[in-house]
Amino acid sequence: DVYKRQELAQKYIGEGGRLVRELFDLARNKAPAIVFIDELDALGKARGAGSFGGHDEREQTLNQLLTELDGFDTNAGVILMGATNRPEILDPALLRPGRFDRTVEVDRPDVKGREAILKIHAKEVKLAREVVLHKLAVRTPGFAGADLANVVNEAALLAARRDKEASTMSELEEAIERSVAGLERKSRVLNEKERRIVAYHEAGHAMVGEILPEANPVQKISIVSRGIAALGYTLNMPLEDRYLMTREELQDTLAAILGGRAAEEVVFGEISTGAANDLQQATQMAERMVKE
Ligand code: ZN
Repeated sequence: DVYKRQELAQKYIGEGGRLVRELFDLARNKAPAIVFIDELDALGKARGAGSFGGHDEREQTLNQLLTELDGFDTNAGVILMGATNRPEILDPALLRPGRFDRTVEVDRPDVKGREAILKIHAKEVKLAREVVLHKLAVRTPGFAGADLANVVNEAALLAARRDKEASTMSELEEAIERSVAGLERKSRVLNEKERRIVAYHEAGHAMVGEILPEANPVQKISIVSRGIAALGYTLNMPLEDRYLMTREELQDTLAAILGGRAAEEVVFGEISTGAANDLQQATQMAERMVKE
C-alpha cells in the first residue's frame, strides 16, 4: 500500500535498491500480502542491453530484486506478481525457477471476452434498450479492454451532446468508428477534383474487397476525412477474430489495400499521393509474408 505510487526505478544512486529492500520487508511484516510490480520491464530490462544514463543504478535495483527473490521463503505468505507488455526484454535471470517462474499470458480479449468487458463498462452509463453488446463485441476485433472502455465513454459523450437520455447503437457505432479511424474533420475542405479522386479511391478499395472472396467484407466507405492522414476511408472489419490467415486471404487483402490506387489509375489515368499509406501497409504485409 505504502509503495502503491512509489517509483522503484529511482534516479538517485542506491535509492532503488533500498526501496526494493523496504518493499519486501514491508510485505513480510504484513503477510499475508501480495506484491505487485507494474511495468516490470522498467527495472527488469536485460542487463547490458540498456539505455544511456542511470544504467548502473537500474542494474543495482535489479540485482537487489534478484537477491530478494532468492531469499524469498515460499511459506512466508507473500505472493509476488509482475506485469509487463514486453516480456521479451526482461532479464532472463528474473524468469528462472524460484523467481518469476510462472507466466500467465493475458492476450487481447476474444469476442466473448470483449462482450464481458463491455458488460462491465455498460454498468457505468445509460444504454438504450436496443443496444446489443454482443453485436459490438463482434465488431471490435483487436480492441483491448481500454479501447472498449473508451468506446462506451465516447458514446455516452455523444449521446449527451445530442440530448439523448441514453446511448443508442448509433452512438456506440460512431464511437467504434472514431476509435478505428480517428475524429471526423469537417473543417478539412477538399476541392471538387480532390473529392472525386478520394471518392474513386475509396470505392476502389470497397469494390476489390467486395469482389475477392477472401478479403474482409466492407462495412462502410466515406470521404469524410478523419484523423490526421486519411482523406477518406474504407472500414473493413473481419467478421470474427482471426488467429490464422491463409496465403489466399493475405493476397486478397493485399489486393484490396491496393484497390484504391488501382481505381485512380483506371479512372483518371494518373495516380496521386493518396495511396502513400496504403503502399506502406501493403509493403509491410508483403514483407512479413516473405520473411515470417
Ligand atoms: Zn487507400
